[in-house]
Amino acid sequence: IINIMSTHLLKHFINGEKVSGSSGRILEVFNPATGKVSKTIEAASSNDTAKAIQVASDAFEDWSQVPPSKRAQIMFTYRELIIKHTDELAELVSQEHGKTFADAKGEVGRGLEIVEYCTAINNHLKSDFSADVSRGIDSHNLRQPLGVCAGIVPFNFPAMVPMWMYPVAIACGNTFVLKLSEKVPSCGLRLTELMHEAGLPDGVLNTIVGDKEAVDEILTNPQVRAVSFVGSTGVGEYIYQEGSKNNKRVQALCGAKNHMIVMPDADLEQSSDAIIGAAYGSAGERCMAISVVVAVGDETADKLIESLTPKVKSLKIGAYDEPNVEMGPVVSKESQEKIISYIDAGINAGADLKVDGRSETERDGFFVGGCLFDNVTSDMSIYTDEIFGPVLSVVRVSTYDEALKLVNDHEYGNGTAIFTRDGDTARHFTTNVKVGMVGVNIPIPVPVAMHSFGGWKRSLFGGSSIHGMEGVRFYTQLKTITSRWPSGIRKGAQFNFESGKDV
Ligand code: NAD
Repeated sequence: IINIMSTHLLKHFINGEKVSGSSGRILEVFNPATGKVSKTIEAASSNDTAKAIQVASDAFEDWSQVPPSKRAQIMFTYRELIIKHTDELAELVSQEHGKTFADAKGEVGRGLEIVEYCTAINNHLKSDFSADVSRGIDSHNLRQPLGVCAGIVPFNFPAMVPMWMYPVAIACGNTFVLKLSEKVPSCGLRLTELMHEAGLPDGVLNTIVGDKEAVDEILTNPQVRAVSFVGSTGVGEYIYQEGSKNNKRVQALCGAKNHMIVMPDADLEQSSDAIIGAAYGSAGERCMAISVVVAVGDETADKLIESLTPKVKSLKIGAYDEPNVEMGPVVSKESQEKIISYIDAGINAGADLKVDGRSETERDGFFVGGCLFDNVTSDMSIYTDEIFGPVLSVVRVSTYDEALKLVNDHEYGNGTAIFTRDGDTARHFTTNVKVGMVGVNIPIPVPVAMHSFGGWKRSLFGGSSIHGMEGVRFYTQLKTITSRWPSGIRKGAQFNFESGKDV
């Protein structure tokens, strides 16, 4: 039994105020480095969620009429506040997620870049105009906001993923309900407070912490026009189907199994360093983490295993505030247990466990050491499933064609990379691979703010990538206006469709 009095009690942020939940269910937030509960919050009930949606709906008319340049001014101030509070925000991330402080600062920085993109929202919203589509007739487009939009976010990027959503939606003139991950709520709540400090009117951004109960209200409430989801594939598919059934626009960015192909001509030391960061950074809890290395040729595989093994063994594991730490714990006890069960399954299936990190589970907290498997085959669960931990599989193939086929046959298509010195191979790969984000000698090709982030296949439902111009399109609806000035040209009644060529 936890002593609720000794832990910090968090509150939701609705209509500019901190409010308690009313579900009667207490959610516990852990410090994964100690395994102890650090904070609690009463989960948002469906009533609390409906209230947040109502407040956002009431705020929409006024907010949508604020000129984009004025909305941009708030983003400029918000940008300054995030810079000023970067360390504090990163610390909140590390305390609840477990990632290193430097990594947490990195994600705050990537979120900040989205806010910076939104400072130019008047440029992104500027429309097309065609003069004289027919004699005396002009045509132009408007991109108008939708109304109430909602975001449902995962635990693994407590700062960046929320910032993929609400700054863009709000800058476009929408109001927003953000449902944070119950595992890592503090940073998102603080980011919401700072947005108000920057001058955002009450009711435009409402942030709640909850679980399925809150999510189901978002999916069924008729006032919600659009839902952005980032999380696991099972939940994302449910959100896409339920949201669509209720006539909402839905983008659901989901799970991944990201392959990195290493060609025999690649710089193997550079490739091996890239693999270490991409597979074990953030304890493998990134949707763009490399979890499979496809080594082309046995010689490539042997050299890589030789180079990777000592590096994985010497990873510095610890809490985010210990000096020189490279890898923190995983987020929860359940996550730790799930990862261990996959390692056991890999051994039982006959893969070679070259580095075994299971002994790290003996520490306090939710630690798993780096694990490296060789001779993994495509029928093993360590290959097919997203493990979401510091476990890397090396698959050996003989040719580039086999490697490409492996990537294309996998159910996920989030990120991938090829390491090679050959431009011809790289170009063939980038053209023919069935994956949304592709790196050439870049292990984690996360698109920057002015581009858009999104996978293919079962890594994304709804077809719409997030942030950048795809984000602006997702959070706006297109209106096309055709007008005739002056009115002096009289042709009499027209019964046929006119075209510009009929003049
Ligand atoms: P998750 O699916 O468990 O949770 C995501 C969100 O859904 C949370 O807000 C959670 O409260 C809610 N949720 C959980 N179960 C639910 C249910 N049954 N019904 C309704 N809502 C529910 O994901 P997670 O463990 O927090 O995050 C890790 C996953 O997110 C990984 O699969 C990772 O690949 C994925 N991810 C994907 C991207 C991407 O852009 N493609 C980015 C980050 C993370």
